[in-house]
Amino acid sequence: MKFSKVCSLILASCMLFGAVGCGGQESAGGDNSGNQNGLVTSQEGKLIWATNATFEPYEYKEGDKVVGIDAEIAEAIATKLGLEAQVENMEFDAIIPSVVSGKADIGIAGMTITDERLNNVNFSDTYVEAGQAIIVKKGSDIKGVSDLAGKVVGVQRGTVGDSYVSDSANGVNVASVERFSACPDAVQSLIAGKIDAVVIDNEPAKKMTEGVDEVVKLEENLTSEQYAIAVSKKNEALLKEINTILGEMKANGELQAILDKYLSE
Ligand code: GLN
Repeated sequence: MKFSKVCSLILASCMLFGAVGCGGQESAGGDNSGNQNGLVTSQEGKLIWATNATFEPYEYKEGDKVVGIDAEIAEAIATKLGLEAQVENMEFDAIIPSVVSGKADIGIAGMTITDERLNNVNFSDTYVEAGQAIIVKKGSDIKGVSDLAGKVVGVQRGTVGDSYVSDSANGVNVASVERFSACPDAVQSLIAGKIDAVVIDNEPAKKMTEGVDEVVKLEENLTSEQYAIAVSKKNEALLKEINTILGEMKANGELQAILDKYLSE
């Protein structure tokens, strides 16, 4: 009697655990839904990506749409996670705060990994190598970084270019730094003769000077940087998924195809 009672108890608990195990497996695998592996985003079914769409070829506006390398990467990641990508276009220096606060799930904005930013967010694996470049007016006496000493230099507020020229430890010794909310405004100011040079990332510098008579991008790269995707420190699961997807996109050529579409050689 006792023995059979024990047996039925064991049987019952086996069934119970079996059922739980089975249910667990069902939700953990098999489909491509966004919530697999415990993935949670700020809005159900969405991947909200924060950017500053003034940074061609990485993100810029075509009509109302934000397009570019980062837009395509964000779309690809969202699709692979079974989520809908939704862009939040904002000031560059608002991107990290919005990822920290959870207003956005990721920041993807030609954003360089820096120690300071790593205090606030995690970064994915890197997807682009970049560097700062100098834009000057044609015929300028500025031929390289050493000629920036004593000059008025324009940058985009809160960028690596900003800290590079602002930080006296780099020895650039500019007379002053003019901070703009968008790089094209800095270039306009240069054309208008209000500033002497602009320091911004090399590919956007190329785009902003191509076909513009008054200005030229100098060859020299001032820094060596890696772009990556900023993710909240609270969302390790999302970071892991993004790194897996980036790894796949690197391996199958998808990432290179996106870069080739926008980067001129
Ligand atoms: N790569 C630079 C940075 O991270 C500039 C980025 C940008 O202006 N979108 O600061």
